[in-house]
Amino acid sequence: MASPTVSECVDVFDSLWPPALAEGWDSVGLAVGDPDAEVGSILLALDPMDAVIAEAVVLDADLVFNHHPLLLRPVQTVNASTLKGGAVHTLISNGIAQFNAHTNADSARGGVSDVLISLLGITESRPLVPHSSSEDREGTGIGRVGDLDTPMPVRELARLLAERLPRTTTGVRIAGDPASMATTVAVCGGAGDSLFDEVRASGADVFVTADLRHHPATEARDTANRHRGTPHLIDVSHWASETVWLDAAAAQLEAEFAARGFEVSLLRSAVNTDPWVERY
Ligand SMILES: [Zn+2]
Repeated sequence: MASPTVSECVDVFDSLWPPALAEGWDSVGLAVGDPDAEVGSILLALDPMDAVIAEAVVLDADLVFNHHPLLLRPVQTVNASTLKGGAVHTLISNGIAQFNAHTNADSARGGVSDVLISLLGITESRPLVPHSSSEDREGTGIGRVGDLDTPMPVRELARLLAERLPRTTTGVRIAGDPASMATTVAVCGGAGDSLFDEVRASGADVFVTADLRHHPATEARDTANRHRGTPHLIDVSHWASETVWLDAAAAQLEAEFAARGFEVSLLRSAVNTDPWVERY
């Protein structure tokens, strides 16, 4: 079997996580790389941090596949002494391409939020914000909402997440009433505090997301308390909520490359890109 080129890899990525599903503000796709170069191995990591790029150099990987973009905001320079320029230089000088699937991977079926909600045993869910051109994209969109087979206290849900997500320094936190029973669960992998209106409209008893800050959380709780007290909030680590998707993505990639007759080795990064390392 032959190795794919960078552009053949991009075809595979785009078939699993169509770029048309990405949000308008996002940056997805090939940020660095020669489309005609051969790819023998791909390193998968959530973030294109320097340590991940250094790992790709050591492992002699040909392509770094990330969830988060390397270049989200426009840059005026790729001067190697700048943060982004330094990364671009290291990649190019070592012949390494960089690709990312971000909100398109959140939105796609089997994507980030699907994987997160399935950790709770919920296999049938619908998007919180369905994708606008949904005709042929049934089931795609941002976030997911679905019902637990057996209702359980918010506290039990949080414990289940702590058990099934990778262990993190920041852990799993509850805002609201831990003893309250939950049936309908909304989730959004990564930072989901822009989705409170949609979560309330979905009738969810609890909302699982990451990066909840003081003001959005207190205002969401006040709003909840003026109605029936829901949704309660469960805040998980941004890194943990999305890194579980990478395992699913690796399996999908393995199958898709094989189906197309390509041989490529898929490597999981050993770098933990969760920035939080200690807690007192
Ligand atoms: Zn994220």
